[in-house]
Amino acid sequence: MLPGEVRAMHELSICNAIASTAVKHAEGRPVTQVKVQIGHLRQVVPDALQFSWEVVSSTTDLKDAQLVIEQVPAVVECLDCGATTVLDLAILACGACDGFDVKLLSGEELLVVSIDLVDA
Ligand SMILES: [Zn+2]
Repeated sequence: MLPGEVRAMHELSICNAIASTAVKHAEGRPVTQVKVQIGHLRQVVPDALQFSWEVVSSTTDLKDAQLVIEQVPAVVECLDCGATTVLDLAILACGACDGFDVKLLSGEELLVVSIDLVDA
């Protein structure tokens, strides 16, 4: 299998999880928009996620629902120097002193934050 296919499957499985959450919450009501928060460390490609959403949602009641992706930066707090830095890479290290004694503040999110329903 090509690396690209693995990635696509990753996004596809995330979309399946998002869709099942949305369908459950909507309880049969039409959904217009699903907003998700994806942390940087999830290494999700937004375009790939959108594409996967088209595929997944078209087979469900969510086919008219738009997927809105909110990307959350990976932020760490250094326990050595106290600096709070945003990570570029998926390596947990302090951006100020390069120390590895850091606490992750955000970046691992994979949440459905809101589901907009058609007003009855
Ligand atoms: Zn530091």
